[in-house]
Amino acid sequence: MTQTIERCATCGNEAVAIAMHVDGTDLVMRSCDNCDTRTWSLGGAPIELGNALEQVGLHAGRRR
Ligand SMILES: [Zn+2]
Repeated sequence: MTQTIERCATCGNEAVAIAMHVDGTDLVMRSCDNCDTRTWSLGGAPIELGNALEQVGLHAGRRR
């Protein structure tokens, strides 16, 4: 699991991107604390959160 800082596409603030390998594919979660935007991508393509959770097989649990 790799954590990097990226720029939020919505508000331009710093957002945390967490990348993990799922079945040999990169699953990336981007989470912005500023505007509360959370996006997922699988193999570079945006996917819906529900699909992401199926891929990972875990709950994303809210922080705070
Ligand atoms: Zn943002």
